[in-house]
This record gives sequence, structure tokens and C-alpha cells, in this order.
Amino acid sequence: MSVENFLFDFGIIGAGIAGLTCAKRLQSGGFSVVVLDKSRGVGGRLATRRIDSTPVDHGLPYITPDGQYTENLISLCHPWTSSPPTYIHPDGINSIPKSLREGLTIHRNFLVTSVAYGDTWRIKSEAGEVAAKSLIIAIPAPQALSLLKNSNFTEADFLQALASVHYEPCITFMAGYSQPLPDNYPLFSRSITADIRWVGLDSSKRVNPPQSLIVIHSSPDFAAANFDLSPLESLAPMLLSQAGLPAPDWLQVHRWRYALPLIRLPFDYLKSSIVPLYICGDFCCDSLPPLEAAMTSAVAVVNALIYQSC
Ligand SMILES: Cc1cc2nc3c(=O)[nH]c(=O)nc-3n(C[C@H](O)[C@H](O)[C@H](O)COP(=O)(O)OP(=O)(O)OC[C@H]3O[C@@H](n4cnc5c(N)ncnc54)[C@H](O)[C@@H]3O)c2cc1C
Repeated sequence: MSVENFLFDFGIIGAGIAGLTCAKRLQSGGFSVVVLDKSRGVGGRLATRRIDSTPVDHGLPYITPDGQYTENLISLCHPWTSSPPTYIHPDGINSIPKSLREGLTIHRNFLVTSVAYGDTWRIKSEAGEVAAKSLIIAIPAPQALSLLKNSNFTEADFLQALASVHYEPCITFMAGYSQPLPDNYPLFSRSITADIRWVGLDSSKRVNPPQSLIVIHSSPDFAAANFDLSPLESLAPMLLSQAGLPAPDWLQVHRWRYALPLIRLPFDYLKSSIVPLYICGDFCCDSLPPLEAAMTSAVAVVNALIYQSC
């Protein structure tokens, strides 16, 4: 295992919008920061997959202006629908977090398996180990909980708060058509059946799309009932038929175990009273929609840290 000798001011676990927001602001404030993410890329649930060179948004489908931070993101986007107002990125929603990563030290393919606090934090993965004075965890609460349970951290109130959070799962189906779909196929619809929470014509977000591309988000109940089924592709004909769609030329599926927070925390973030540990994300700020909450929570952590260090 390689151990990085440098001691960062902050180690941030998670390169989703919350982790990147923290990292950007702390680095601008003059702190040294390292961001660690288990994935190949950044952005977490602001996820875009390239299929035959066409971007497909298989996580968050669009930005809605739900508060000051989502409104700021709109400057990076193009309008999609006017009623309700939604905004997309023509190269895929993942272009938004990618624009934040510039200048940051990010270790990708770095699945953090445990953290340990002595005089400093040792943040460990099979890929190596990094050291930081303070730790910010910016991943869904159930994942944070299992990480901390695997560590020498025992603060009961803190762990209980994390354990109270629950997420809804979602299965995303992506379907491609070489033939055009009916002209009047809606750009998106919500809750059209008990199995479908959302269906959208993803290709309508692109400039001159080479094919028609549909994204279906299953309902949480459907996802919970079928999450471990294999192969999940066998469920697609039923959902496509419910969405009034023919058999596609190709199909891909993605499982989101933690798609949307259902039972959340009324705080802006969690802070340990024993060690320099902070947790932020969309399960905090429970009065706000999740994306706005994730960024509000991240900014609240940074403001607390910068204020503290003055
Ligand atoms: C299908 C779908 C539809 C959605 N629709 C909406 C919507 O309409 N409106 C809305 O407001 N929100 C919506 N959301 C939710 C929104 O995308 C999230 O609230 C937001 O992206 C959360 O950002 P985050 O940074 O807190 O977490 P994430 O984006 O989950 O980022 C966490 C990061 O941590 C990494 N990670 C996790 N564990 C580890 C580990 N042990 N080691 C290293 N890295 C780790 C992950 O790889 C990930 O990159 C939707 C999400 C999905 C999936």
C-alpha cells in the first residue's frame, strides 16, 4: 500500500457536487485539499454515460431552479422545458461537476474502506492511504455509516443521526432507437404508472442527436422489489410498454441504491464534538430539494470551518 507523505488540511471523501463544492471553496480559502472518490470520474449522481458517443444522463436528469445554488448552476446550462422550467447541459449533466474539478487534487478509483484518527486522519483504500488534519465525508449517509463503523469512531449521537437517514432506490433504464419516435412524444412525464417515476426523451437534450434515446427512472417500490434481480434487462419490455414505447435497438440499466433521500436530517451538516470530522450531503437541510440541499450543506460546512479558523 502506498502512503502519501503530504499532510493535507482537508481530506474529502466523495467527488459528487457536495464534495466538489467543499473542495473548491476550501482551496480558494487557501487550504490544501485532497478529494477521494471510488469512481472513475467525478460528479456522483450527476451522472452521464456515453453510448455510441451520445451522452445519456442516467442520474439527475436536469437542473431546476430550487434556490441560490441550483440557480447558480443554470448559468452553465441550456433551457430544456419551460413549464416547469428545467435546464440541461447539451454535453450531459456530468459536465457541470466536471467544470468544478479544475485545479483540484482528486484521487479517482479510490474506494475509502476505513478512516482512523490519531493526531491526524489516515484515510485508507486498497489503492493507498492519505493523511489529513480534518475529514469531510460527502457521501450518502448509509455509506458514511458503514465506513465509520469500519473505523475507530464511536461517537454515539453522530452514528445514530446517520442511522436515521433512509434513501429511496431507483433503477434507470436507457433505451436507444435508430427509428424516430412519434413526434409528439413528451420531453418528460412524471409518475405515469406505479412502476415509473419519470420518463424522458434524453436525446432531445442533444444537438443533432444521431438516435432517439429514452431514459426511464423506476419508482422506489419497483426498484426495491427488483433491485437484486439479474438480468434487470428482462424487466425493460414491461416498463417500455407502460411508457408507450416499442422494443428498442439497445438497452442499458443502472442501479442506484441511494438515489433520493427519503428520511433526512433537519441540520445543515453533522460535526463531531470529539474529532475534526464533518459530514454533508443531500440528506441534510431537509426542507430543500436534494440537489439544492447537497450544495447548501457543503457551503454550510465550509463557512463553519473558515469562520472557525479566523
Ligand atoms: C435517478 C436520480 C434522479 C434524481 N432526481 C433529482 C431531482 O429531480 N431533483 C433533485 O434535487 N435531486 C435529484 N436527484 C438527487 C441528486 O442527484 C443528489 O441529491 C445530488 O447529486 C447529491 O450529491 P452528493 O454530492 O451529496 O452525493 P453523490 O452525488 O452521491 O456523490 C457522492 C460521491 O461519493 C462517492 N463515494 C461513495 N462512497 C465512497 C467511498 N467509500 N469512497 C470513495 N468515494 C465514495 C461516489 O462515487 C460519489 O461520486 C436524483 C438522483 C438520481 C440518482
